[in-house]
Amino acid sequence: MATTDRPSDAPLVRDTPWAAPSDEVLLEFRSAPAGLTGTEATERLGRDGRNELPEPPRPSLVRRLLSQYNDVLTYILIGAAVLKAITADWVDFTVIVVVIVATGLVGFVQEGRATSALAGLRRMQSLDAKVLRDGTWGVVDAAELVVGDVVRVRSGDRVPADVRLLDAHGLQVDESALTGESLAADKGPDAVQADAGLGDRSSMLFSGTIATAGTGEGVVVAIGSDTAIGRISALVAEQDEMDTPLARQLARLGGQLSILIAGLALVMLLVGYFVHGLGLEDLISAAIGFAVAAVPEGLPALVTITLALGVQQMAKRRAITRKMAAVETLGSTTTICSDKTGTLTQNEMTARAVVTPSGSYAVTGTGYAPEGAITTVDGAAADAADHPDLDALVVAATLCNDASVERDGDGWRVVGQPTEGALRLLADKAGADTRGARRIAAVPFESSHKFAATLDELPGDDGPRRIVHVVGAPDRLLDRSAHERTSAGELVALDRAAWDGRIDELSARGLRVLAVAVRGASDDDDTLTLEEVDDGLTFLGVVGIVDPPRPEATAAIAEAHGAGIRVKMITGDHRGTATAIARELGLAPERGEVPVLSGAELTAMSDEELAHVARDVDVYARTSPEHKLRIVRALQSRGEVVAMTGDGVNDAPSITRADVGVAMGVKGTEATKEAADIVLADDNFATIERAVEEGRRIYDNIRKSVVFLLPTNGAQSLVVLVAVLAGLALPLTPVQILWINLATALTLSLSLAGEPAEPGIMKRPPRSSSEQVLSSRALVVVLFASVVLGGVTLAVYLIERARTGDVQLAQTTAVLMLAIGQLAFLLNCRFLNSSSLTPRVLRGNPAIWGSAAALIALQLAFTYLPFMNAWFGTKPIGIEGWLLTAVFAVGVFLLVEVAKLLTRLGARRATVTTPDAERATVGTHR
Ligand code: ADP
Ligand code: MG
Repeated sequence: MATTDRPSDAPLVRDTPWAAPSDEVLLEFRSAPAGLTGTEATERLGRDGRNELPEPPRPSLVRRLLSQYNDVLTYILIGAAVLKAITADWVDFTVIVVVIVATGLVGFVQEGRATSALAGLRRMQSLDAKVLRDGTWGVVDAAELVVGDVVRVRSGDRVPADVRLLDAHGLQVDESALTGESLAADKGPDAVQADAGLGDRSSMLFSGTIATAGTGEGVVVAIGSDTAIGRISALVAEQDEMDTPLARQLARLGGQLSILIAGLALVMLLVGYFVHGLGLEDLISAAIGFAVAAVPEGLPALVTITLALGVQQMAKRRAITRKMAAVETLGSTTTICSDKTGTLTQNEMTARAVVTPSGSYAVTGTGYAPEGAITTVDGAAADAADHPDLDALVVAATLCNDASVERDGDGWRVVGQPTEGALRLLADKAGADTRGARRIAAVPFESSHKFAATLDELPGDDGPRRIVHVVGAPDRLLDRSAHERTSAGELVALDRAAWDGRIDELSARGLRVLAVAVRGASDDDDTLTLEEVDDGLTFLGVVGIVDPPRPEATAAIAEAHGAGIRVKMITGDHRGTATAIARELGLAPERGEVPVLSGAELTAMSDEELAHVARDVDVYARTSPEHKLRIVRALQSRGEVVAMTGDGVNDAPSITRADVGVAMGVKGTEATKEAADIVLADDNFATIERAVEEGRRIYDNIRKSVVFLLPTNGAQSLVVLVAVLAGLALPLTPVQILWINLATALTLSLSLAGEPAEPGIMKRPPRSSSEQVLSSRALVVVLFASVVLGGVTLAVYLIERARTGDVQLAQTTAVLMLAIGQLAFLLNCRFLNSSSLTPRVLRGNPAIWGSAAALIALQLAFTYLPFMNAWFGTKPIGIEGWLLTAVFAVGVFLLVEVAKLLTRLGARRATVTTPDAERATVGTHR
């Protein structure tokens, strides 16, 4: 043990690792600065288990089942059952009880489906950790970290376990998840007092907190429920609430309907009692039937299940939903602001050109494969050994670098940032020699300052010397440089104009340009801060890196434009590079001036000025994360619904502010994922565009389901209402209404949730965000369909009663009419924006036919099984009944189509006359 010289009463290293020197901590956990071996890690994983917090307990099965019965309709039904028990009407009593139980079970199963869809999503959001094993850095699932692992975090990362720091550079951590303290805490490897409070243990990183600046390495000292956060179990699992604006809108609608229903029921009872002198028992029957018929009990479940199925579908298309409400907002998105690198481009960086003060070089090879060479302009092979200018540049570029390139199956991949990977590979191709170099300090790359710097010690003939190496955006480095080096090795004054010209040339080719510079340091310098890289640099040259646009992004942008959605590219890259890439992507015209706003111009503008131009500028260059926030605000102030992407730690505010915050799943930081509504599993712009399409589809389907569901209730209640008001015997008994309600809930009511997107869904303008799910057009259809469905049911009842004189037969046929009429109406609802009078109405959604078949089967049982006849008071009907209802159903379908046509014509007239016409009629937005 390393603790032999400690007093025996001193706290154990294991219990207070923050108080012991870091080498002692390493010893205690039987680890080393080079990390664990792979075998040791596997062994410890088997011994200690996975680095996970136990799942929060789910409410028990019974609890969840019982919660299904907590609604008004169930209370009404229970009341009805009690009444039936009092009057000893045991058949009706049994039917009602069976219906209560069955309805609850249906809800329970549906909720289960929704929950498991969401649980699947949560599993997809696992955390990666950078870990040193067998002496090499790699990436593992954070759940597989073990005590003793050496891990690395950088700004934006979420700390994967409790870690004792071994080394840190400018590391700051937001520990608010743990301590509630929102100010970022400075972290470093120095031991602190054993009795320091949680917030003062600056040598520790705690699981679940987020690094906001700098980098650090440390050894894992606690995992899973042994971590500080695991012990206080404060991290309540992020439960994604289904409480979305749409769900609230529908809840409100449900409330309004209940009041209407109660009022109508009262009127009905009064008229029945005073006008028609109906008996109490008849009135109670009518009231129960009416309430059961009218309450749209399926409404909330419908939103939940449609959203849940929708997010599952979106996840299959690589967009992972973190906040359910975003699914709705996606459908009304009018502007998508996207990062360039990795989202619109492939983020596969390869150096193509190098320009030093003494000349230009070309680089061959593709991707990250270490094949390729460097040539001079006249095609001769160039090697670092023969070209000191090239040598100086590549040595700096590879020392100021945290990436490595490793084999990945047949190909190669970068661990770290692709830009740095490209530079690392460039140095390899040039044959840079950096043996014996040692890093002393570093300022990591951050999109706000746009460069990275390291202080390194290099071996030399007359002892080691220290040098600051800087890599970053050319303008930032040129601002800080005074000199450049000639081929003879002399320092001369920097020719800024010449460099600006060379950089413009490279970026006009669409290349991402990085500059490299150095400065001497004294032997006793052992820290490096951002301020210390302020001036006095010697400029070594620039590197041009290709990052080809994603082919699918071009198509997605065209599609978005067609859907009336503007696409804006916001990049930290150079204006020239941004313009060239924008042209390639079809974001800007091939020729002519492209309006571009640079970060500097943005800073000089007032918010009003920005709001004035933001809608018309599609390319933003050399921006910093805080500019994104201003752009979102400016667009929103003009009524735009904005989706904004981000990956860096400083992007969280703009992502939070955007209507739909989108984070990158692969290269994005945990900080942005935490803030985001949607995480792109593949960082791909095309995925956002598809998510918008999905959002539109899901919203359409919810609207379709609502439009379908309400008239089924409307029709049933109208039948009861009219019958009582007219003093007729009830055309449907309460238990028969229960039956048709349950049969519809079991079969038709959810079959629109999986409806595919209507053709042309991405050809129409975005839905206005103030629009109600039950738009005036939809309301017209709902009311009309209620009257038509209710009317034919009543008509069938009267016709059959007159024809046969048998009330039970007439009632049975009336129930069949409702069932088949609803089926016909379901076909109307498949296409709310176009006519359903097309062969397409029979294709594309197999769920429709499955549920139709089930409904018919249920109706056959209801009509012909003797025990059903006994329970529900039905009677087998003849072929005439079926024919009659079929003919009427066709009539319902055609009449509703006429109503749909009229509302469509009305809507078209409205768009021509309102001032909003410009927004509503979209082809292209230019
Ligand atoms: P983008 O918006 O394209 O993602 P970034 O914010 O990644 O832009 O980069 C902006 C600029 O910062 C780049 O053009 C490049 O000059 C510089 N840069 C990017 N990555 C690094 C890095 N790892 N090290 C040094 N400089 C970098
Ligand atoms: Mg970036």
